[in-house]
Amino acid sequence: MRVLITGGAGFIGAALANRLVAEGHHVRVLDDLSAGDPARLDRRVVFTRGDVRDVPKLWTLLQGISCVYHLAARVSVPESVLYPREYNDVNVGGTVAVMQAARDAGVGRVVFASSGAVYGDQETQPVSESAWPHPRSPYAVSKLASELYVNTLGALYGIETVSLRIFNAYGAGQFVPAAHAPVIPFFLKQALSGGSVIVFGTGQQTRDFVYIDDVVDALVAASEATGVNRQVINVGSGQETSVRALVDLIAEAIGREVHSLHSQADTGGVSRLVADLTRARALLGYAPKVDVRAGLRLMLQHDPYLRDLMRRDA
Ligand code: NAD
Repeated sequence: MRVLITGGAGFIGAALANRLVAEGHHVRVLDDLSAGDPARLDRRVVFTRGDVRDVPKLWTLLQGISCVYHLAARVSVPESVLYPREYNDVNVGGTVAVMQAARDAGVGRVVFASSGAVYGDQETQPVSESAWPHPRSPYAVSKLASELYVNTLGALYGIETVSLRIFNAYGAGQFVPAAHAPVIPFFLKQALSGGSVIVFGTGQQTRDFVYIDDVVDALVAASEATGVNRQVINVGSGQETSVRALVDLIAEAIGREVHSLHSQADTGGVSRLVADLTRARALLGYAPKVDVRAGLRLMLQHDPYLRDLMRRDA
């Protein structure tokens, strides 16, 4: 397979690129490095720096490509509330650019990285793809709009498309940005540095934390599976974990107590979110292998930064 991964120097994209080249595929990556780091990539990955909205650049990179993984995006929910125009420009504009260039280059399939955030608040959990989305942020709207563009333009241009609604991905190699960091790497860093973790709202809000290797399994399957055209498919662990329980699991993983502070300044987002994986199992043969307890252990073993903090702590 010859693939292009947009946003391939990011957390999920780099893990996918490295898996695919290890399996003998030809992999190109396009990333503007606004959040990515090409040092994460295996030497065999062909890296190009550029903006995903640059259609002429996409034309060049798409020559001979059979499948595009479209992952390039701005990814922070709180930041999207501050800068909705930018999120619309990059996330929606980038998706339209990818579809237009894919049409011109004769690409066979586009796999889009959507998000469990499109669901927002849902009464029924686990949430299945038939639930009506209630996006609560410009980020979530940009993902839902992109799904519709991928679907509609794919049908108009004769390109196979599939959107994976990825839930809360975590794992080794995940960045901890100064602001709006994802909860698992941030809590681990805080706990290992001897600091306190801040739990928003009651701490009873739940999420579906899915380990990076499982997310990559689903992405790989999405480029090869038959019967996935125009589908949206949940990719989670199927396991519901409260933020409170996560703090306890982190304490267990690092082998000491974790001090937590509570903040009512923020409600902590939707109260419950866990993925129904029926469709992923049926269409992708997806079977997540790593639960949160095992995932935290793997992260502490394989993430160089966290391993170093553990060593210093010992
Ligand atoms: P990430 O920030 O590590 O990766 C995104 C990459 O896109 C970065 O390397 C960034 O430099 C690049 N990028 C941003 N704007 C760009 C532009 N204009 N042109 C080219 N490249 C650009 O985030 P991630 O966690 O690896 O997420 C990858 C994708 O998966 C995103 O589309 C995200 O919305 C989606 N997703 C992630 C999660 C999660 O939990 N990590 C959950 C659901 C969906």
